[in-house]
Amino acid sequence: MGRSMPVNKRVYVIYTGGTIGMVKTVNGYAPKKNYLVDKIKTIVDFYHDEVPEFYIHEYEHLIDSANIKPEDWIDIATDIVKNYNDYDGFVILHGTDTLAYTASALSFILGGLSKPVICTGSQIPISELRSDASDNILHSLILAANEHISEVCLFFHKKLLRGNRAVKVNSEGMDAFSSPNYPALGEVGIDVKLDKARLQPKMAFNVQRKLEELQNFQRSKVAILSIFPGFDPEILSQVLKSNLKGLVLKTYGAGNIMDNPKIIEILTKASTEGVIIVNCSQCLTGSVKAGVYEAGTALIKAGVLSGFDMTDEAALTKLFYLLSSERDSLEKVKGLLVENLYGELTEKQEG
Ligand code: ASP
Repeated sequence: MGRSMPVNKRVYVIYTGGTIGMVKTVNGYAPKKNYLVDKIKTIVDFYHDEVPEFYIHEYEHLIDSANIKPEDWIDIATDIVKNYNDYDGFVILHGTDTLAYTASALSFILGGLSKPVICTGSQIPISELRSDASDNILHSLILAANEHISEVCLFFHKKLLRGNRAVKVNSEGMDAFSSPNYPALGEVGIDVKLDKARLQPKMAFNVQRKLEELQNFQRSKVAILSIFPGFDPEILSQVLKSNLKGLVLKTYGAGNIMDNPKIIEILTKASTEGVIIVNCSQCLTGSVKAGVYEAGTALIKAGVLSGFDMTDEAALTKLFYLLSSERDSLEKVKGLLVENLYGELTEKQEG
């Protein structure tokens, strides 16, 4: 794709909060009503011929994304559903702290897409000198008008990443996001270049039915737990006692844990009782191949599922999403969890 884009496109922008629109207060940076929208009106680049027409829906309560909740994902998804037919693409302005969770969650909640949904934020507020906000917003708008994209993406610092593959890797640098297990979908230089072979195919928009089901959050009590040298099995036991429905177990390397019969006993009991336990690696790059080592094989026998190369954010939000369905049997949920639904995992890597 070259620099000149067709501009007869309309993009719907959802502004949820985050550093991007914050201003300095006596207590530190905080979002300020109308600030970002008014500021954008003063930047001529946003009204250039090659930028699509856009409408910004500023949410009533702008939040630091540390406060995002699954209910907010449903609200964002509902907003997109309502406006899906009237716009060519969507941009979500959001804090960077939980941007990868939101992008992952939306990839599952929205399901099949035939239009782009681009999530972005910034490291420096638009109110400050050297801000990356307007560059990230401008490119997100241009990408949201690109008809080759039909998935949830995260755009940040010149890179377009698959939303459910992205992780925040840097709290200081401008290059805050990466997708360690999947190449970037595109890059912005002199030209805006897309790796078209890697993009998700267009799918029929099929979210409506699931939004209603997803209101049922209590079924989706999920957690992430990391093992470490000296891990006390009692910790696992206590976590599982909290009526958990799903657990992302963060293991070593290719999906290994220590040789501890007590841990295996606890996991076996929980999975037999219907808790879905997913094995994800503490490594950022590579996949779980739980059968490679004896210690990992014990996890398979205990009923722990392979999370392959899913990020924590993807595994957690996929669990949340799948467990929200009242109709799906446990076996169906388990089957979908290890299947590649929207580009979140690379299948067939089990050893
Ligand atoms: N704490 C901020 C947030 O996530 C950080 C940011 O936006 O970069 O809302």
